[in-house]
Amino acid sequence: MNRIPVADAHVDVLMKLLNPDIRFHSDHPELAANYASLQQGGVATQVFALFVEPKWDPATQLYAVLREIDAFYEQIASLASIRAIRTREDLRMARQQQQLAALLSLEGAGCLRGSVEVLRILHHLGVRGVGLTWNDANELADGCGELRGGGLTRAGRDVLREMQHLSMWIDLAHLHDAGVRDVLRLTDGPVMASHANARAVHAHRRNLTDDTIREIIRRQGWIGLTFEARFVAEGQVRIDDVFRHLDHILELGGQHHVGFGSDFDGTSNDIVGLTASRDYAPFAQQVLDRYGRELGSAVLFGNFEAFLQRQLPP
Ligand SMILES: [Zn+2]
Repeated sequence: MNRIPVADAHVDVLMKLLNPDIRFHSDHPELAANYASLQQGGVATQVFALFVEPKWDPATQLYAVLREIDAFYEQIASLASIRAIRTREDLRMARQQQQLAALLSLEGAGCLRGSVEVLRILHHLGVRGVGLTWNDANELADGCGELRGGGLTRAGRDVLREMQHLSMWIDLAHLHDAGVRDVLRLTDGPVMASHANARAVHAHRRNLTDDTIREIIRRQGWIGLTFEARFVAEGQVRIDDVFRHLDHILELGGQHHVGFGSDFDGTSNDIVGLTASRDYAPFAQQVLDRYGRELGSAVLFGNFEAFLQRQLPP
């Protein structure tokens, strides 16, 4: 198999693996980002998000997060063709052995209950990126769906400071604009958005303003365009609609700072022809045809690889 390499910064397959009847290695119809699909799509880097129901009480959330981490190591990173990545050295080894580089991120940090101790434990377990919220509010900040529209709480600031200390990446996806402003005010290093699009192209609260996009670019951060159809366009959404978002970010100067975070296994509305990781194979060819080999391969893979090189510990 000689696929065009792809990096994807966000799938939610771990959540589905909480069901003991669904295994990563099986071709269960429920799974969009299982082993065979990732291989067929040419995915060379995959960030696996730890997402749990934010309505659960924090102890239940944390228990589920720990079970998802177990699924990551037992079912995914245990495979010979996959390597769990915690450091730049791990990444170097994965490339040398032509393994899929697999990383863990936390999508919504309600399970922390504001505790930097729990954050540090998750870091010990290999978690390398954190989004402070999902759409709701939690102890750290308000999500983009919270009407109150608050920024970071005191606990949120403490967690943010510890994340910088641990060199964990800060994921702005799902955070309310007020929280995005706070993060940008309280930090000066790279930030990223693992799965979000451009609000100037499609006005949705989950998408990024031009000011935020420019700031992510200026800081050498990274933006992963996402395939949840509601964040891409109205009506029946096609791959060309995704390219409108990519074109816009390129116009803002993002040629080294943009890529993809599909949200496979987390989407509720699909794009025609882009519903599972295996669809990356034809999609990647379309990207190369449209943007040329140099820019196309940077967007598909190289930009996120460079971001990981900047962000991961040695
Ligand atoms: Zn999400």
